[in-house]
Amino acid sequence: MRSGDRPRHRAWALTAGAFLLAACGGAAPAPADSRPAPTGTATAPTTAAPAAAVTAVTAPSAFVSFSDWLASFRQEAVAAGISPATVDAAFAGLSPDPRVTDLDQSQPEFTRRIWEYLDSAVSASRVGMGRDRYDQHRALLDQVGRAYGVDPRFIVAIWGLESGYGGNVGSFDVIRSLATLAYEGRRQVIFREFLLQALRILDRGDIARERMIGSWAGAMGQTQFMPGSYLSYAVDFDADGRRDLWGSLGDVFGSTANYLAQHGWVAGETWGSEVVLPAGFDFRLTGADTRRSLAEWQQLGVTGARGVLPATRGAAALIVPAGHRGPAFLVYDNFRVILRYNNATSYALAIGLLADALAGQGGVVGDWPERDPPLSRSDREELQRLLTARGYDTQGIDGIIGPNTRNALRRFQEEIGVPADGYPTVDLLRRLRS
Ligand code: CA
Repeated sequence: MRSGDRPRHRAWALTAGAFLLAACGGAAPAPADSRPAPTGTATAPTTAAPAAAVTAVTAPSAFVSFSDWLASFRQEAVAAGISPATVDAAFAGLSPDPRVTDLDQSQPEFTRRIWEYLDSAVSASRVGMGRDRYDQHRALLDQVGRAYGVDPRFIVAIWGLESGYGGNVGSFDVIRSLATLAYEGRRQVIFREFLLQALRILDRGDIARERMIGSWAGAMGQTQFMPGSYLSYAVDFDADGRRDLWGSLGDVFGSTANYLAQHGWVAGETWGSEVVLPAGFDFRLTGADTRRSLAEWQQLGVTGARGVLPATRGAAALIVPAGHRGPAFLVYDNFRVILRYNNATSYALAIGLLADALAGQGGVVGDWPERDPPLSRSDREELQRLLTARGYDTQGIDGIIGPNTRNALRRFQEEIGVPADGYPTVDLLRRLRS
């Protein structure tokens, strides 16, 4: 999960940028250890990161050796109430991990598009394995589902996407990764906080030092909790006195369900549904921020792509993650809860579609605009520059297609008389250049 603009339960910080891209239909979260770092661009790591408030700590360490930095951090951790024995054991023999630094600095020119991400996230093998695992652990999953009011297929879907149902929890030493990023990363302040939180988890005895492994950015366990989420939302469901997100499926499922429940999961409802739009639909009504009741959408001519739309007592938003030529989805309150786990539209959609597939429902009916050429990072920056120069301010040129860029693009689309979906394409870039 992320915090701030970005979401992630795991991650946190990383993700803001990613999420924005993804939300626009562009990028998608990358698989676990290969996820690029979050800086702003690319894809986000996934996971649940909570967003614990980050306290400002001391200034970053330019020109300080790692060992001096660690010694200073040790004092800070002890002053924060962590036992010296825990800190010393955690930091013994520690060195920065160059792989983590490389991953943190990678900024791919192209990001995976949403349909490419969904093909892999909701692949036949992931669905098949998920059904097997669901059957295998049905009694426990039903027990957890009842305890937290969360339909177990969503717990299984998160488990499947975050770690391949426990098969890949990451192989990085979490303390070493977090210390590396806190020492020399681009987000030192938030990683200092994560490192402190990870030490606190060790200090409480939830997990042994050598078993605390995870993604390169510090997401932990079978559903990839960032340390702050772990502290706030992990539960000891099997009641053995420890919250073990690596080895106890009760704790894994219970913690994931608790995270969803604490973020407002609506029991008895689903995430949303694919829909079909009437001819001439006003695409200015699309986007996560425009929320209406199901009845209002139906009055506008929106119908279910597979028949009757599932019920919701809340409001729904209409999203077109690949623009007006791609599939459309009505997303409910629970979709917003999934975004609290990982703030990428593509991720939340993958969880919803995987959960549906686990229940035997088919995939996306509409066609994705797969033949559209992708926009590179420099194309996206050029798009932002041209929109801004034309009077449609994108609030910055960073190559990230977020709400400001989409809104600016919608206004340009209105000006030239094309559907105002806010979705960037090579064709629109061409028209901006002329
Ligand atoms: Ca336990």
